[in-house]
Amino acid sequence: MNYFLTPEQKMIQDLARKVAVEKVLPVRAELDEKEEFPWEIMKVCAEAGLFGVSISEEYGGFGGGVLENCLAVEEMSRICLGVATSYAASGLGAHPIMLYGSPEQKKKYLPDIAKGKRLAAFGLTEADAGSDASAIRTTAARKADGYLLNGTKQWITNGGEAEIYTIIAITDRSKGPRGASALIIEKGTPGFEFGKKEKKMGIRASATRELVFQDCFVPKENLIGKEGMGFIVTMRTFDRTRPGVGAQGVGLAQGALDETVRYAREREQFEKKIISFQAIQHLLADMAIQVEAARALVYSVARYIDQEKNPKEISKVSGMAKVFASDVAMKVTTDAVQIFGGYGYMREYPVEKMMRDAKILQIFEGTNQIQRNIIGLELSKEYAGKK
Ligand SMILES: Cc1cc2nc3c(=O)[nH]c(=O)nc-3n(C[C@H](O)[C@H](O)[C@H](O)COP(=O)(O)OP(=O)(O)OC[C@H]3O[C@@H](n4cnc5c(N)ncnc54)[C@H](O)[C@@H]3O)c2cc1C
Repeated sequence: MNYFLTPEQKMIQDLARKVAVEKVLPVRAELDEKEEFPWEIMKVCAEAGLFGVSISEEYGGFGGGVLENCLAVEEMSRICLGVATSYAASGLGAHPIMLYGSPEQKKKYLPDIAKGKRLAAFGLTEADAGSDASAIRTTAARKADGYLLNGTKQWITNGGEAEIYTIIAITDRSKGPRGASALIIEKGTPGFEFGKKEKKMGIRASATRELVFQDCFVPKENLIGKEGMGFIVTMRTFDRTRPGVGAQGVGLAQGALDETVRYAREREQFEKKIISFQAIQHLLADMAIQVEAARALVYSVARYIDQEKNPKEISKVSGMAKVFASDVAMKVTTDAVQIFGGYGYMREYPVEKMMRDAKILQIFEGTNQIQRNIIGLELSKEYAGKK
């Protein structure tokens, strides 16, 4: 379908597609098998300027917005969700700085992130604080000229590989939700170490690690925004990055559909191509309808966020894009395996990996149940007092 993208947006889409098809496709099965971080591909993305897609021109980026990011992420996810997650997680780590960083912080960190010279990561989750982010225990104790960080973050994408980390820690527990703050911590800072690297069901090319802080000193210049803004920084970041998770779902589902139509046109049973069976055609039709519906929602939400000066419905609609497209990715990849039959269950065929990869999209950046809670709450507020 024609989404009337601008020439610049088409250029980003084409560039990401070229990198994905030429560089990622030949190695995706190997990266998954070896659970290897895709450094070579990250370097290619850097050379192509893809890390700067939504960073402003002032800091060496392309100056695009949420839609441009979605276009790049979608194309990479079509080929490999693990690679796409590693790419997208750097944007997630950069967002708090893009949205709330001081001019000095932006000048210091964004040009390197935009060039892909240094990857970023975002650290909120802890062992006992997932959906309930307010339960985090990592503390940033105020000192004369900075903070002393103590605690452990869990399951941080790009952990160990990234150089720049935006971390949410408690600065004043007595203030409840206003007691957390966002800080920038660089790899190599004394007292900052990496813990366990996870072995995962899917997105195995991405790195998921523990971050361990033990009396790690962070200078006060590294505080993002003001003290107490940690959860606001987090929410506003996710508002802008959740459509990107939706775009991951769109790309992954499209990739599964591409593989499945090709397969169904070739596979013969009962002396007929299986695509001639109406049961298969209907499954494929439903897959295609869902992919297009997810894409239309993700692009509309991204455009709304980019073009509306004060997008009041942002949390609701970015949650909708994330939930809908990730549910589509799970359903479409599962149906893809069904159409491949037993071959779909085998590692030699790409849909096996795609189905394993899909699951994470319903879990990270806020589970789909939590997104539905947010959407439901917003609806309830909107209708309060309405007849
Ligand atoms: C591969 C991977 C990469 C990740 N990358 C990052 C990262 O880069 N940075 C980061 O900070 N975090 C990251 N995470 C963490 C991720 O965001 C959390 O896993 C997620 O927020 C859910 O938290 P949890 O796993 O602790 O589940 P829990 O919060 O324990 O939830 C368990 C179940 O209960 C449900 N549930 C919980 N509360 C409610 C409720 N109030 N209403 C309805 N249902 C509820 C959940 O939906 C879920 O089904 C990553 C996780 C994974 C697996």
